[in-house]
Amino acid sequence: MPSPSLDELRAKIDASVRSLTDESARVRDLQGLEDLRNAFLSRKRGAVTLLFEELKAVAAEDKREAGQLVNSLKVLVQDKLAALEASLAAPTAVRSETDLTLPGRRRPWGAAHPLRLFQAEIESIFVEMGFGIEDGPEIETDFYNFEALNFPPNHPARDAWDTLYVRKDADDPKRDLLLRTHTSPVQIRVMEKRKPPIRIIIPGKVYRKDQPDPTHMPMFMQVEGLVVGEGITFAHLKGTLEHFLKRLFGEKLKVRFRPSFFPFTEPSAEVDIECLQCGQKDPACRVCGGTGWKEILGSGMVHPQVFKNVKIDPEKYSGWAFGMGVERIAMFAYGIPDVRYFYENDLRFNRQFQLK
Ligand SMILES: [Zn+2]
Repeated sequence: MPSPSLDELRAKIDASVRSLTDESARVRDLQGLEDLRNAFLSRKRGAVTLLFEELKAVAAEDKREAGQLVNSLKVLVQDKLAALEASLAAPTAVRSETDLTLPGRRRPWGAAHPLRLFQAEIESIFVEMGFGIEDGPEIETDFYNFEALNFPPNHPARDAWDTLYVRKDADDPKRDLLLRTHTSPVQIRVMEKRKPPIRIIIPGKVYRKDQPDPTHMPMFMQVEGLVVGEGITFAHLKGTLEHFLKRLFGEKLKVRFRPSFFPFTEPSAEVDIECLQCGQKDPACRVCGGTGWKEILGSGMVHPQVFKNVKIDPEKYSGWAFGMGVERIAMFAYGIPDVRYFYENDLRFNRQFQLK
């Protein structure tokens, strides 16, 4: 092998630098980077490696300078590879057409749902009186929704609660799963795990097999209350509910109690308030049907059988419970003619009821 001159070596190094510039411009990904590294630094065929091989044949007096030339090429290649690697790892730059000086888009304000607001108002009145707030599952067993509440199997009172079943077991009704038809199963769950005194309200969604119409929805909200303790009487029930209704509708509100029937209370009473629409003056009033009264909630003294079902001694303890439909009261309070408005999520409707 003839010894290469320094000029020849310089020419080869220049060619390598040009090829490094060209090829590095085409690198788009890590594979391209690896190919470039192999083309120059591969231990067998890399361009830089081959130039180091040629150094062996360079004349002794030129060796030092030739070595520096090849070494500087090697450093150049390594720097280029490192710079490419860093740029591939960096996040994609912001596209130039994005104008960072533009003001942000303003998102439209939402509104708290009127039923939630009304529920919060009801809750705050009872919390003031020392009630706690409880919650429970919306999918229930037959036991909690009916049996423990003194609805025996095949009892006709069950027909009034048009039940939606999640699982119906013809052989073993105890395995039935249903969407709770009232919030009362939570009363049972609380009494099972807690000893009296108990003083709670239970707000929540309930489900019945109803077609949507101006006064019915297959899902609606209830607030239920339960008080259990020693020496609790119907007078406590009456005083508490009267206080609650007057806080909600005004101090001068007329309230009356009417005898009624529920399987889980005895005695039971429905509670009416004066018709706020006509002030008890319009015989043709559409809201009260001309009676001047509007039924607003159901209540009663907890049935001794319900206490026995949850192992609370009915000789020692007594209690009362009430339940009401939140939509029904809100419609009455705000003069809303159709319950379906609550579920259309029309912001123009929802915004009307925001607290001041
Ligand atoms: Zn009326």
